[in-house]
Amino acid sequence: RQVSPEMIKNDIKEQNIQFLRLMFTDILGTIKNVEVPVSQIDKVLDGQMMFDGCSIEGFVRISESDMYLKPDLNTWLIFPWETETSTPAKVARLICDVYHANGKVFKGDPRGNLKRVLKEAEELGFTEFNLGPEPEFFLLKFDEDGKVTDTLNDNGGYFDLAPNDLAENCRRDIVLELQALGFEIEASHHEAAPGQHEIDWQYAGAIEACDNIQTFKLIVKTVARKHNLHATFMPKPIEGINGSGMHMNVSLFKGEENAFVDEDGETLSIDAGHFIAGLIDHAMGLTAITNPIVNSYKRLIPGFEAPTSIAWSGQNRTPMIRIPSSRGKSTRIEVRSVDPSANPYLAMACILKAGLQGIKDKMEAPQPKNQNMYDLNEKELEEEGIKQLPSTLKEAINELKASPLMQDALGDHIYTHFVKMKELEWKEYSASVSEWEKDRYLELY
Ligand code: GLN
Ligand code: MG
Ligand code: MG
Ligand code: MG
Repeated sequence: RQVSPEMIKNDIKEQNIQFLRLMFTDILGTIKNVEVPVSQIDKVLDGQMMFDGCSIEGFVRISESDMYLKPDLNTWLIFPWETETSTPAKVARLICDVYHANGKVFKGDPRGNLKRVLKEAEELGFTEFNLGPEPEFFLLKFDEDGKVTDTLNDNGGYFDLAPNDLAENCRRDIVLELQALGFEIEASHHEAAPGQHEIDWQYAGAIEACDNIQTFKLIVKTVARKHNLHATFMPKPIEGINGSGMHMNVSLFKGEENAFVDEDGETLSIDAGHFIAGLIDHAMGLTAITNPIVNSYKRLIPGFEAPTSIAWSGQNRTPMIRIPSSRGKSTRIEVRSVDPSANPYLAMACILKAGLQGIKDKMEAPQPKNQNMYDLNEKELEEEGIKQLPSTLKEAINELKASPLMQDALGDHIYTHFVKMKELEWKEYSASVSEWEKDRYLELY
């Protein structure tokens, strides 16, 4: 879709749009936006909208804080609902790239960083790096004071229907809103855990797909709230039941051809094997980015359909990588370790970098593992040559610090700030005393 300034101005005139949200994503993956009245449209289209970058976590020092937002016109989108102002009006958004006052791209902008890594794929002849994400989330109730609780909205299970699934209409409303925004929704269903849901839509090129994830989260949270529910993408909100993943189905294309499958449309290509090998080789350093919060590691344990081992397989869902059975153009690698707290732009940059390294070095993938990883003990894993994913954020950060390739994938600015913020997060967590500890130790000692 190519959007021109004229189309945008026309929409503004014809659709009662009064506000423009200029959006970007910070290093931690949070969407940020500044809203301007439509009177500012010329300035916006000109990339003249300035903001103070030093208030954004991990962005810039106070001395160099004037940043500019340059909109990507193709991300033009009009929100379907109207404002609740005295005269209701519509709001539209543009996703922006972030620039310094001197016109240089800002290296701390995750979206711009992904564009940089995508160029490396282009240099190797790959015209597109596609992503189909599968975000999962929980719907939680509010208490009387309007505070989010950890009470799940229903007791449903995988693919359940009402009355076990109490979120049918909330999910339908989410789907309708997303469709109104141009999403091609492929599936919407109750997930395995009570209160847990998944909505999938059509894959797209990496940048568009990551933009879509950010939009998706915003819509899910907004619509859930209208149903008096809170949607959370926290990876493991509740102990003892499945957590939420955001499996990433990725493929490289050369023009119209899917580079992960041979001409017969059936056999995985040699490049697919190399890509898998690169992912496995860099899995340890990658994990801090795909699973970036303390809580992420409470999901990556045996027994809850989340991966624990660094291996790949066809149908088994317990290793980090699976190759879904569809072939032809839909041939893809499903990275199952990723969770929805990941910054999608950073996760895609690191996954791509790892896979491309496999292709460049013609790395040989290990044999696929078809046994259930949860059943293997330490000795068996070692005999099979299977490593376990990092088990804490701390371990993952240390692996990232030991991985020059993953540091390259992030660039200096993002890498440095990311590690700094995450080490602080770990330090605070380490100092906290949990309910579990009190229950376990207060009386015993
Ligand atoms: N919730 C699981 C995870 O943590 C995935 C379950 C599924 O989609 N089969 O990744
Ligand atoms: Mg799924
Ligand atoms: Mg799922
Ligand atoms: Mg999946």
